[in-house]
Amino acid sequence: MAKMKSSNEIIRNFMEDMVADTIDGVIKNMDVCGCEKCRMDITAIALNNLPPKYVVTRKGQLFTKLSVLQHQFDADLTSAISKAAVIVSENPRHNTEEQ
Ligand SMILES: [Zn+2]
Repeated sequence: MAKMKSSNEIIRNFMEDMVADTIDGVIKNMDVCGCEKCRMDITAIALNNLPPKYVVTRKGQLFTKLSVLQHQFDADLTSAISKAAVIVSENPRHNTEEQ
């Protein structure tokens, strides 16, 4: 009679949410393009340089501990996003692929 308890649960890389929440605050102070493509490139590069933080969560559930955890990762996040933004600003791809 066991129900499929896992059916509504998903595995997420918590770090993705952290980068998404942090990127705007970092790049607004930098001379880097803020278009969607560049933002995605910066996010991908930053995530490749950050340790993944996988969590099991129910679909649609918000991370209630976000602000607590965010404090621990702030320095690493800001550093990784800054480095990624420099890389993207030197090699922007927004004009090379879709026009
Ligand atoms: Zn751009």
